[in-house]
Amino acid sequence: MQLLHRGDFGPAVAEIKANLAAQGLLPEGEGAPAGGGQHADGRREEHVYDAVVEHAVRVFQQQRGLITDGIVGPATYRALRDARWRLGDRPLAYLVTQPTTGDDVVALQERLLELGYDAGRANGIFGGQTEQALRGFQRDYGLVADGVCGPETLRALRQLTPKVRGGRPVFLREQERVRTAGPLLRGKRIVLDPGHGGADRGICVDGASEADLVWDLARRLEGRMVATGMEALLTRGPDSCPQESDRAAFANDAGAELFLSLHVDANSSPRAQGIASFHFGTGTGNGTTSTVGEALAGYIQREVSAKTGMVDCGAHRKTWEVLRLTRMPAVRVEVGYLTNPEDRARLLDPNFRDIVAERILVAVKRHYLLGKNDQPTGTFTFDDLLRHELAKID
Ligand SMILES: [Zn+2]
Repeated sequence: MQLLHRGDFGPAVAEIKANLAAQGLLPEGEGAPAGGGQHADGRREEHVYDAVVEHAVRVFQQQRGLITDGIVGPATYRALRDARWRLGDRPLAYLVTQPTTGDDVVALQERLLELGYDAGRANGIFGGQTEQALRGFQRDYGLVADGVCGPETLRALRQLTPKVRGGRPVFLREQERVRTAGPLLRGKRIVLDPGHGGADRGICVDGASEADLVWDLARRLEGRMVATGMEALLTRGPDSCPQESDRAAFANDAGAELFLSLHVDANSSPRAQGIASFHFGTGTGNGTTSTVGEALAGYIQREVSAKTGMVDCGAHRKTWEVLRLTRMPAVRVEVGYLTNPEDRARLLDPNFRDIVAERILVAVKRHYLLGKNDQPTGTFTFDDLLRHELAKID
């Protein structure tokens, strides 16, 4: 689709304004095809993407964990459309060829999860797992188990008291899986996702490209993981660039236990620097968040910054495709700013990339140790890790 931003006008802008108004982010009546003022050049007042609309778009993007740029691209457009739906507005069912998406699907998934049915991550996509959970619920409550969320099912869903209130059972289940997986890395399958690739070079500064740097980093990480007995799979080769959704599907199909995406960042200010990590989550405060993803992101932040002196820019919630569409805990790491001279010098140094790979692996190990046999940040070495892995064989 065409990007929409400040200064644009037309029916597409009117639709965006109507959606923003429905979210309470623009005054009611905005975007309504009423007899508003008409500009001399034929633009209708209500169809103009002005500063007020741009601000509302930013607020919406912030709430939804999208990139806050005030521009409506495909991700923001989809989120705006999804946001219109309230549970009960339409019957919901699994459409295999084009799965239904929307906030009503999120509400259904969360309700099923609260009642103890594993609908998977509440990602707003009515897929096979949501249907399974819905059928299970319908069967248990003496309804027709047709997998369609119509008026009868809706009434039953609304009458019942949740088994888990407030908490997010899907994320409790994620935690339980990490606990039962045990502390050893050996035998665990992880998907490494070097960003970009092929014709998409990512961020390029002075001949250095993000695509090459994260590819190299992924290979170093892969080598260490294989040395510990882990199974590390890469989402791409050196010259290909799969879509974000394909990268997530690859990890789902592989049944990976973790998904790690590697990128570097850029900023218009050369002063911006540091490492940041992102995990699945919406909003702030009482939104949903993958607690496992958040914990792993925290370990990565602390381990890498402690050993490299990079600025720790923290762990943050996002709804980016690779975080939203993956079914296992997923973290995307932005290892420094290629636009910052200090970070760039670090990234171009192979020794630095070795240290980062090692610290990420240690973070993954600490994640599975769940605080047991743990050592202070930055003191756990690759040798310690191998020793721990081997000790358990006897
Ligand atoms: Zn990138």
